[in-house]
Amino acid sequence: MAGQPDHKRPRHPRLRPGISLGLAVLLLAYLFCLPKDLFKGVSYSTVVESAEGELLGARIAADGQWRFPPCDTLPERLATALVQFEDRQFWWHPGVNPVAMGRALLQNLRSGHVVSGGSTLTMQVIRLSRQKERTVWQKLIESVLATRLELRYPKQRILALYASHAPFGGNVVGLEAAAWRYFGRPASELSWAEAATLAVLPNAPSTLHLGKGREDLLQKRNRLLKRLLEHGDLSADTYEAALEEPLPDAPLPLPSYASHFVERCPRGVRTRTGIRLPLQKAVSAVADRQSDDLAKEGVADLAVVVIDNATGEIVAYVGNASPERERTGVQVDIAASPRSTGSILKPFLYAAALQEGEILPHTLLPDIPVNLGGFAPQNFDRQFYGAVPASEALARSLNVPAVFLLRQYGVPKFHSLLQKEGLTTLTHNPDYYGLSLILGGGEGRLDEITAAYSAMAYSCHGDSLDPDGSRNDNCHTERSECISDRLAIWYTLQALQEVNRPDELDWRLIRSVRKAAWKTGTSYGFRDAWAVGMTPAYTIGVWAGNADGHGVPGLTGARTAGPVMFDILNLLPASDEWFEEPSCHTERSERISGDSLGPEGPRNDNYSVYANVCTQSGMLATPDCPAQEMLIPAAGLQSEPCPYHRTGEFVLTPAMEWFYKPHHPEYVGARSAVSTQEIEFIYPQSGTTLYLPRQLSGQVEGAVFRVAHHRSDATLWWHLDQTYVGETRFLHELRLAPAPGSHTLTVVDGDGNSATIRFTVAGD
Ligand SMILES: [Zn+2]
Repeated sequence: MAGQPDHKRPRHPRLRPGISLGLAVLLLAYLFCLPKDLFKGVSYSTVVESAEGELLGARIAADGQWRFPPCDTLPERLATALVQFEDRQFWWHPGVNPVAMGRALLQNLRSGHVVSGGSTLTMQVIRLSRQKERTVWQKLIESVLATRLELRYPKQRILALYASHAPFGGNVVGLEAAAWRYFGRPASELSWAEAATLAVLPNAPSTLHLGKGREDLLQKRNRLLKRLLEHGDLSADTYEAALEEPLPDAPLPLPSYASHFVERCPRGVRTRTGIRLPLQKAVSAVADRQSDDLAKEGVADLAVVVIDNATGEIVAYVGNASPERERTGVQVDIAASPRSTGSILKPFLYAAALQEGEILPHTLLPDIPVNLGGFAPQNFDRQFYGAVPASEALARSLNVPAVFLLRQYGVPKFHSLLQKEGLTTLTHNPDYYGLSLILGGGEGRLDEITAAYSAMAYSCHGDSLDPDGSRNDNCHTERSECISDRLAIWYTLQALQEVNRPDELDWRLIRSVRKAAWKTGTSYGFRDAWAVGMTPAYTIGVWAGNADGHGVPGLTGARTAGPVMFDILNLLPASDEWFEEPSCHTERSERISGDSLGPEGPRNDNYSVYANVCTQSGMLATPDCPAQEMLIPAAGLQSEPCPYHRTGEFVLTPAMEWFYKPHHPEYVGARSAVSTQEIEFIYPQSGTTLYLPRQLSGQVEGAVFRVAHHRSDATLWWHLDQTYVGETRFLHELRLAPAPGSHTLTVVDGDGNSATIRFTVAGD
């Protein structure tokens, strides 16, 4: 008896931990049996949606299938039809359905071959993800994995996974692609008959387009509709109507809006963009119509970008208008192609120079002939105006004052600023471009330039549009906050708002003109026409020209791109809102961070002050100047004071005066005072190399040398290489033909004032 308790001990004491361990291993194995990413390695179509969630366009997946990236849920009709057809207990079972499996087994045994799979939708998801043979063993594995999948995802998600990966005939995979390909509509807008067709299709995906299978398919669809009727999912009326609907015919093309924009979105995923479909359609229509008109003048290509300033998002995008009109280069996305910038970058220089105190808003800039290391800029009209306020020079897009301003500001600094403003196309070093950078010597992309303008408009108006200051970027280049001084930008927008720009625009072409701050650009050789317009809410960028780069006489930013820009402006929501003048001492909410400034150090204090400004030169007033108070960026306090007023007289330099006078009859100049510079060479500039033309006889024609003197009645004596060559009075012009080589030319007046230049005459 003593041994009895021993008998009550378990027979195999060592097995217990073994069983526990085994169970633990099994449990772990079960927990980890399902791959983290069920459909790893499966490629998806590129799907691009509008801001409203509508399909803009799609691209076929890498494996040649129309397979849209999975959604989390299915539209209700489709969910109902699918469950009713495939797996009626789907909402209740744990991934496997023993009753259905047993019934299938019986059916199969009775008929001697496989007539029913008895698989649940969950098991079918597993099967679609594994693509293994259909054997009993595989089915067992699928069952286990299915129960595990049920633990991971909600039912809706499992159903959506099935619908996204099931075959729908041909190269159409997934419900969403099928809805578009067969019915031309999103899955959420399908009728009951259409939903039922798609629900039965994965069961026999090859039947849809085979003549003999269509009757079967119709029967299947109608049986499912009947079942849905009996189940109370649809009314008798709906049922009767659904039976009348025909099956779909040949697959339909997918929607294609903003196709160039779709191209630039990430591949193989679904992207929700900022494109507003109704606006996109309207902008496309205007661009197509305008492009067809321009084509008659030899301007084949046209691109448009519209940006919402508050979000920074592109809301309409035409990479190249009128794609139906056959031509080479039509597939090129010109909005993202580098093109010569013409004058379109000038507002950034003006704003930056203002922000950093290089100039005040109306500072007089020289507009006289100049030769800077072989670069002799000309204005568009080939005239010189002597001196022009910076704001007016910007509004009239004068080239010469812009070059003077860039020389003062510095090419490397401006080059770096443009890069910070988001221009990725200025890949050469600043020396490569030199001062021509401001006249189209560099290249820019319409999308990036429009974005940079939009960022300016936002900086000026942004706080009232979007209190948290967030700008969302989607398929979109990064923005920077380089030009951020509100007042500097406000003055820039003011200058660009002057629509009274003679010769620039044929206003008769424009039906109704809304208020905009806008700038045009024309590249050398009439190859590129630009126009960018800003309102507080939107920025519109337009480029016109030929993709292959050939120029068209008469192609200009104002005449060619301007009218398109205004036509598109008219499509945008009307608003009376305008950029408000910033008040004094506005502390900026965002200050420029130290590391974004570069070696120049802090550029501005980002607040505004009142200053005494000379009414004639636009510069800081001296005691001799007629002055007016004016709000300026604080950095402007360090700008140069007016050098043109001495003892009350407004006196320009002789060269400025020479060109200024004909345009300003009211200009008096020096009456009494002796200015520091009496004489100035107008042509040539010191350091110039001259190429003297020859007559047919071989004789050198020589060149007309020209000098300006403050006093109209002065007499000048001319000396070439210290040899007297002639004298002039009133009009100081002398034709000279110096031999090839280096020379000096000196002119002297009766008071002993003189001016000297050095120049070179090129050899034969
Ligand atoms: Zn002055």
